[in-house]
Amino acid sequence: DPDPTLRPDPLPEDTDRALRPQMLSDFIGQQEARANLSVFIQSARQRGEAMDHTLFHGPPGLGKTTLAQIMARELGVGFRMTSGPVLAKAGDLAAILTNLERNDVLFIDEIHRLNPAVEEVLYPALEDFELDLVIGEGPAARTVRIELQPFTLVGATTRLGLLTTPLRDRFGIPTRLQFYSEDELHQIVTRNAMRMGTPADEEGAREIARRSRGTPRIAGRLLRRVADFAVVESDGQITQALADNALTRLGVDGLGLDGADRRYLRLIAEGYQGGPVGIETLSAALSESRDALEEVIEPFLLQQALIQRTPRGRMLAPLGWRHLGMDAPKAPGQ
Ligand code: ADP
Repeated sequence: DPDPTLRPDPLPEDTDRALRPQMLSDFIGQQEARANLSVFIQSARQRGEAMDHTLFHGPPGLGKTTLAQIMARELGVGFRMTSGPVLAKAGDLAAILTNLERNDVLFIDEIHRLNPAVEEVLYPALEDFELDLVIGEGPAARTVRIELQPFTLVGATTRLGLLTTPLRDRFGIPTRLQFYSEDELHQIVTRNAMRMGTPADEEGAREIARRSRGTPRIAGRLLRRVADFAVVESDGQITQALADNALTRLGVDGLGLDGADRRYLRLIAEGYQGGPVGIETLSAALSESRDALEEVIEPFLLQQALIQRTPRGRMLAPLGWRHLGMDAPKAPGQ
């Protein structure tokens, strides 16, 4: 099985408070999103109102939760966090909403996985800060309306396409997060290595940044692993040679791909002559859920132009063949 610490999904060990940026000014990257948020935060503060509902979308590990926490801190309001799958019943959401204080930020992760009955309760709450609760059952049931404090919903999703249109339309500020550049990750790695007491030199930090798949969460994980090697097998300093050696031993290749990514590419190359091959077929052959392929593995491979998505399925792109060190089969007649 793929090593879970090499995947961008959250793990308990990630709750590393000290390394999470606390304010917009020490959040590196996502320049456009940051510039816009800074204006909206300042405006809400000056008006003394709740900021507009905000939706962050993009692959896992790019900073959606971090930005939501920063928003609350910069707005000077409370922060409550939950997630779509955790809110099983309308009452679960009602309990949270009625406990919010004026202008608080409520963060709902994986908001595309909200139960429809819970989503229904959310609409009037978002629009009018009102809650319609049904009390009792059957013919005796009646609806009571409860006034809520104004609040800001911050939703996060890896799958914008799975959000219902009415929910999507209720976010005043939809924000797409992008993969980070190597330079941005370089800054993040350098700073965190320093804070961890295992400083990285210029090239050592660059090696980790280059192999982090554009994702700060992966950069943080790889840095922790490389730091272990630096402490145990060297003098606690992270150099390029040390980082390269550690990452190679962890199965992370020069582009940052791990075993799961390479298995995916190799299956298309060797099993289907480069494709096109349908996502369901790949999912069955790799014993990975379709969601995991679409949310976690494919976005970076697409961004790196290693694969292409066509109406007939996934295809290995020329750079994908080259990365595997293989030649694309010649089309008939060539
Ligand atoms: P998401 O909610 O999008 O899955 P998170 O906000 O949980 O991502 O961020 C994942 C990890 O990456 C966290 O440990 C966080 O501290 C770190 N991180 C994210 N964005 C940045 C950034 N711009 N600078 C430094 N660290 C970051």
